[in-house]
Amino acid sequence: MSTLRFHALKDVFNHKPLYIEAHKRRSEIFGTNVFNEATMRQYLTKEAFDSVSDAVQKGTKIDRVVADHISTGMKEWAISKGVTHYTHWFQPLTGATAEKHDAFFETIGNGLAIEKFGGGQLVQQEPDASSFPSGGIRNTFEARGYTAWDPTSPAFIYGTTLCIPTVFVSYTGEALDYKTPLLRALQAVDSAAVAVCKYFDKNVKKVNASLGWEQEYFLIDSGLAMSRPDIVLTGRTLLGHSPAKGQQLDDHYFGTIPNRAMAYMRDLETECMLLGIPVKTRHNEVAPNQFELAPIYEEANLAVDHNSLLMDVMDKVAERHNFKVLFHEKPFAGVNGSGKHNNWSLGTNTGVNLLSPGKTPMSNLQFLTFFINTIKAVCDHEELLRAAIASASNDHRLGANEAPPAIMSVFIGEQLTQVLNELENVTTGKLSPKEKTDLKLNVVGKIPDVLLDNTDRNRTSPFAFTGNKFEFRAVGSTANCANPMTVLNTIVAKQLMDFKVEVDKLISKRDMKKDDAIFNVLREYIKTSRSILFEGNGYGEAWEKEAKKRGLSNNKTTPEALKAKISEQTIALFDELGVMNRIESEARYEIEMEEYALRIQIEGRVLGDVARNHVVPTAVRYQNILIENVKGLKEIYGTSYKGLAKEQLNLIEEISGHIEGINSNVTKMTEARKSANGISSIEKKADAYCNKVKPLFNDIRYHCDKLELLVDDELWPLTKYRELLFTK
Ligand code: ADP
Ligand code: MG
Repeated sequence: MSTLRFHALKDVFNHKPLYIEAHKRRSEIFGTNVFNEATMRQYLTKEAFDSVSDAVQKGTKIDRVVADHISTGMKEWAISKGVTHYTHWFQPLTGATAEKHDAFFETIGNGLAIEKFGGGQLVQQEPDASSFPSGGIRNTFEARGYTAWDPTSPAFIYGTTLCIPTVFVSYTGEALDYKTPLLRALQAVDSAAVAVCKYFDKNVKKVNASLGWEQEYFLIDSGLAMSRPDIVLTGRTLLGHSPAKGQQLDDHYFGTIPNRAMAYMRDLETECMLLGIPVKTRHNEVAPNQFELAPIYEEANLAVDHNSLLMDVMDKVAERHNFKVLFHEKPFAGVNGSGKHNNWSLGTNTGVNLLSPGKTPMSNLQFLTFFINTIKAVCDHEELLRAAIASASNDHRLGANEAPPAIMSVFIGEQLTQVLNELENVTTGKLSPKEKTDLKLNVVGKIPDVLLDNTDRNRTSPFAFTGNKFEFRAVGSTANCANPMTVLNTIVAKQLMDFKVEVDKLISKRDMKKDDAIFNVLREYIKTSRSILFEGNGYGEAWEKEAKKRGLSNNKTTPEALKAKISEQTIALFDELGVMNRIESEARYEIEMEEYALRIQIEGRVLGDVARNHVVPTAVRYQNILIENVKGLKEIYGTSYKGLAKEQLNLIEEISGHIEGINSNVTKMTEARKSANGISSIEKKADAYCNKVKPLFNDIRYHCDKLELLVDDELWPLTKYRELLFTK
C-alpha cells in the first residue's frame, strides 16, 4: 500500500468515537435554540406575538412599529444565549444556504458601544447579491436583490448567530431563491384545496401541505475522502474499481450501526433537537457506509428549511468526528446511490389528513377526491415533475436502472386500483339511489379496511401512495426539496381548481347533486389518468417499452428533462397560479442548464487531471519496474528469459494499451470540452457536455480501473473503494 494511503488509513484508527451526550431528555432540549411559540410568548408583547401569529396563519403583513418590538425581543433572547451576530438566512439558486453575518454590536461615540437590532434589520436586508445566479434577471433589470423576513419559518440560533429565514428577491420582485416560488405554490394549493374541502366541511379555513423527507447519505472517513481529488472537488468518485465485496450480501442494510457512525448520529441528533428539527429515524442503508435519517413530517416550508439546515449541520458535525458526508446521488459506481424521498400530503386546520381515508363514506369521498386529483395532476404534468428533480448528479440514479427510473408513474397498490376500477364504471349523469348507496357502502366505505392490509410496497416506483401520503422517491439526495415541492403543490393546486370548476358546472348547469357531480368528474379523471398508473417493476426494460406506448416521457438526461420547465404549458401554469412569471421560469431554466454544463466541465477536468497526473505516471513507474525485471532475467538467463518473463511481458504490453487508451480519450475529452465551451447557446452547450463530453468519462474510467487491478498496490496513489467503503 502506498505511504499516502497507509497514513490516511492509520489515522482512521486514531479517531476515538466522540460521544457528546446531552444529559437531558430530547423532549426537553427540543427547540431550545428556536424562537418558537413558547419563547415568543416570553419575549414579545402580546401585540407583537399576535402579529407574528397572524402573519404565520393568515399571511397578514407585520407593521413596522411592531417589527421593532419583535426584533428587540429576538435580540434579547439571542443575547441571553450568548449570540453576538445575526444573519438573514436564505437559499439562493446555488442550492446551498447563504448567510452574511452582522454583529449586534454598534458604537455610539465616546468610546461606548451597545447591542442593537432594529425592526428594519429584521424585516429586510440587501446582501451584495451580484455573485448569486440570477439567470440574467438582475442584469436585465439592473436591479439589486434583497432578502425579506419569512415569519412562517421561525428564527433560530446556530452557533453564536441568530439566523432569520428570508426570501431573496430582486427589486423588481422576481424570485432569486428557492423559497419564494415555494411559498407562492403553498399559498395556491392552500386556497385551491380549501375551496374543494368546502364541499365536505364548511369549517375548513386552511390547508397545509406537509413534507416528511428522508435523507440518505454516505459517511466516509475524512482523511480517506480528502485523499481523493475527485471526492474533494466533485463529491463523487470518478474512477475506482469495484471491490471484491460490495453490497451483494445485503449485510449492511438495517444492520447494527457502526460505533463511529453512531457517535456521529447522536451528536447530530442533539444539534437537530436544539434547532427544532424533529429527527426521528436512523438506520443503515443498502450500500456499505450508507445511512438514512428521517424526521417527523412538518409543514412543507418549514420542512424544506429544516432539510437545508440539516445538510449544513451534518457537514459541520461530521468535521468533529473526522467524517466527510457525501450527499451525492451516486458517489460510488456499482453500489446503491442516495435519494431523498419526499413524503407529501395535505392537511386541514381541522386536523384532517386529506390523503388519509376516513371513517365515513363521506370522508372517504373527500379522500378519493384528493387522491384522484393528485394522480391526475401527476399524469398531466409528469414531464414537469421529472424536470423538477433533474440534476447532473441525479442523472446517475434516474434512468440508470437502479433507483426510480426517469419515467414518472404512480403506484397505488392493488386495493386502490380495484376501487378506481369500480368508480370508473359509475353511471354518467345522476346516480341512482341504489348505485350511490352501493358505492358508499361497498366501494368508498370499504377503503379504510382495504388499506389496513395494503402492505405491498413497490420500491421501484418514483411516486407511490403509501396509505396516507404520497412518497416522491425520485428526488435526489443533494436536492433542495423546494424545487420538487413547488412543482408538486402547483400542479395539484391547478388540478383542484379545474376540478372545482367542473363540479360546480355539473351542479349548476346539469342540476346534479354535489355527490353525483363529484363522482362524475372523478370517473372521467380516472379514465384520463390511466396512463400514469403503474404497479409493475419500474426498473425493467419492459416498462420502458410500455411507457413509450402510453406516451409517457422518458427523459434520461438533465438537458433533455429541463426543457419541460420552459414549455408553454409550464410557463402558463406557473404564471396563472402566480408562482413564477415567464421571466422567472426562463431564468431558472437557464441557471440549471448552466449549472449542468459547469458540473460536467468540472468533472471532466478532474478526471483528466487524475487520469494523467496520478494514474498514468503510476502505471509508467510500475511498467518500468517490470522492464527492469525483464532486463535482469535476460541478463541472468540469456535467450531463455522469455519463458520466465512471459507474465511480465504481457503486463508491460497491457499497461501500454491502457495508457494509450487513457491518453487518447483524455485528449478527445479535452477537445470536446473546448468545442462545448465555444458554444454560446446554453441549451446547445449543455447538450454538448451531456452527449459529447460525458460519454468519454466511461472510456477513461475503464482504462484507469483496469490499471488499478494490474498495478502494484504499493504504488497505487488513490484510496481504493474497499478502503473508502469498508473503513468504519
Ligand atoms: P417508511 O415509509 O420508511 O416505512 P413512514 O411511513 O412511517 O416510514 O414515514 C416515512 C416518512 O413519511 C417519515 O419521514 C414521516 O415523517 C413521513 N410522513 C408520515 N406521514 C406524513 C404526512 N401526512 N405528510 C408528510 N409526510 C408524512
Ligand atoms: Mg420511505
